[in-house]
Amino acid sequence: MAVVNTPGKIEFQERSITGPSHDQVLIKTKAVSICGSDLHTFKGKHPFAQLPAAPGHELSGEVIEVGDGVGRIKVGDRVALEPVITCGQCAFCEKGTYNLCTNISFHHREGQGAFTPFFVANEKWLHTLPKNISFEEGALLEPLAVAVHAVQKSGVALGETVAIFGVGAIGLMILVLARLSGASDIITVDVQDFRLMTAREMGTSLALNNRGDRTVDEIIRRVGGLGVDVAFEAVGIQTTFVQSLQVLRKGGRAILVGLNPEPEVTLPSNIFVQKEISLSGSQGYCWDFQTALKLVETGSIDLSRFISHRVAFDSLQEGFEILTRPENQAIKVVVVFD
Ligand SMILES: [Zn+2]
Ligand SMILES: [Zn+2]
Repeated sequence: MAVVNTPGKIEFQERSITGPSHDQVLIKTKAVSICGSDLHTFKGKHPFAQLPAAPGHELSGEVIEVGDGVGRIKVGDRVALEPVITCGQCAFCEKGTYNLCTNISFHHREGQGAFTPFFVANEKWLHTLPKNISFEEGALLEPLAVAVHAVQKSGVALGETVAIFGVGAIGLMILVLARLSGASDIITVDVQDFRLMTAREMGTSLALNNRGDRTVDEIIRRVGGLGVDVAFEAVGIQTTFVQSLQVLRKGGRAILVGLNPEPEVTLPSNIFVQKEISLSGSQGYCWDFQTALKLVETGSIDLSRFISHRVAFDSLQEGFEILTRPENQAIKVVVVFD
């Protein structure tokens, strides 16, 4: 299993496979994509994960063994992992809002990273992949579920205008989903030109480079002077956080998706009152894998378009390094296993 002991260096650790016990399933890993949060871990800058840490949670694979209490999942099934661990007993779990579980955790936070040839998971958190979804696409269901959750949370409706700050993989997925939800004008903002180019290919109406200081004005002017209905922040830094509030029309909604490595930001607090805007965070996913699966299965979204690089498991170090250099023009790097 891959671990990060020191910033910038992937090391491999021998581990014995324990399980599958009663309600568990043993998976032979086929594809794992590298997440922005894995990159934070790789650099030793993840806000919630101190080194040493085990990166990786976007996993798909084939079931090779099941515990004696497993019913739905069968040996030979192709599955994608929903990598949460919830208690099933707190008030939020009881209500079904398990992404807010008081005791929520994730496999990788418990030391079980997904960059490993074999993975043991609870049957409950496995989603069976239809035949027309590849393992690589299966690995990308996790980030898609994050985007689905954010777009559902925003309530984007027919004809509404949208600004998206940050068009890495999640921002691009939000773009495609906002379009599917009927948004009219979708403006994307990033500092990397190749990402803006990709956003254009994926249907943004206007792609703005955020290097200048006119971004907010340009967005507001573009939508007729009042501001956008919905803004997504998918970067996780102070500048775009503030911009995502400034571009809103009165009564507009901002959705915060990016995790900020800095624990605190300064906000223009009076605009909440003056403009009656609302700000909501979007945490992970909650019944969103099912929606993501349907969108992929029916061809509403093509996940293969988000894959820019593939590396073999033993070249994982290189996979991470690809993501650290903008000149590589990476969107999603998928680690493939044989
Ligand atoms: Zn992820
Ligand atoms: Zn719970």
